[in-house]
Amino acid sequence: MDLNTVVTITPARERADLGLLGETVAPLAGGSELFADPRVHLTGLVDLQSFGWPALTVTPEGLEIAATCTLAQLAALPTRPGWTAHPLLFECCTALYGSFKVWNVATVGGNLATALPAGPMTSLAAALDAEVLVWRRDGSDEHLPAAGFVTGDMTTVLRTGDVLRSIHIPDASLRARTAFRKIALSPIGRSGAVVIGRLDRDGRFTLTVTAATLRPVQLRYATLPTASALRAGVDGIDAWFTDAHGAADWRAAVSAVLAEEIRQQLEGPEHVPAATRAETPPTGSEARP
Ligand SMILES: Cc1cc2nc3c(=O)[nH]c(=O)nc-3n(C[C@H](O)[C@H](O)[C@H](O)COP(=O)(O)OP(=O)(O)OC[C@H]3O[C@@H](n4cnc5c(N)ncnc54)[C@H](O)[C@@H]3O)c2cc1C
Repeated sequence: MDLNTVVTITPARERADLGLLGETVAPLAGGSELFADPRVHLTGLVDLQSFGWPALTVTPEGLEIAATCTLAQLAALPTRPGWTAHPLLFECCTALYGSFKVWNVATVGGNLATALPAGPMTSLAAALDAEVLVWRRDGSDEHLPAAGFVTGDMTTVLRTGDVLRSIHIPDASLRARTAFRKIALSPIGRSGAVVIGRLDRDGRFTLTVTAATLRPVQLRYATLPTASALRAGVDGIDAWFTDAHGAADWRAAVSAVLAEEIRQQLEGPEHVPAATRAETPPTGSEARP
């Protein structure tokens, strides 16, 4: 929809341009969320895409994802030798139920900043123990665990004038084995639960629960836990919530089932993913879940 109160759109080319941000001037990335609802308090936008940040940068330390990287770009990233976790990139993109049109504009940073519990880029970043880089308004940089970036339903650690610059996934996480499960009340509905398991090469296991909880919740174990230990961990989660996409008790129940499926999958033999994949986005309904 048109944002009729917005009278300026400023292309950001250097960090100083972010000084325009404030209570009535917001960062603009893909616009798929920003233009979805009235924002009558806004008079201006600062376009982050004009920074021209490289979307995806592979280094020996891991993968850096610019906040302005689109879901389409992330989903199409070819794998690398040893990147056992690579399928998770595409799998998490599929947990955003938009068509190719949305995938081509929606950004990773915009998804984290929007901070819906069902934010699939929050799921991905948390599950792989990514670190986010926040450009604070005062010019300082802050590196934070991605799992702590989203603090509640549509709340984050960002303060007015701050910008999420990038997300860094460590190489060790990309070499882990992962298992992904999502569930929704309807086939193209917003996720009611996204549960991801990560089995590191040194045997440590991390279960990340999102979409079912107000913020990412992680359970960590020194080795793959028994079914009862994992069940006890899931039962101990206290951040389930109820909205149109699922009741809290349903979310808790399905998350326990999905967690056990994940545990059993990772207990089994490893399947090496295809050498490369360039997936295509879905072509389903345009309806906003
Ligand atoms: C059909 C459809 C389906 C959708 N399904 C889902 C879904 O299943 N799950 C889900 O989570 N979302 C969903 N969305 C919402 C939205 O598309 C995504 O959250 C998307 O990733 C937002 O990214 P964007 O780049 O378009 O953000 P924008 O719309 O540009 O911005 C969104 C918000 O984040 C702020 N922002 C953007 N980038 C930054 C940054 N780098 N630093 C600080 N603030 C920033 C903006 O100021 C704004 O407040 C859906 C939207 C549509 C239209």
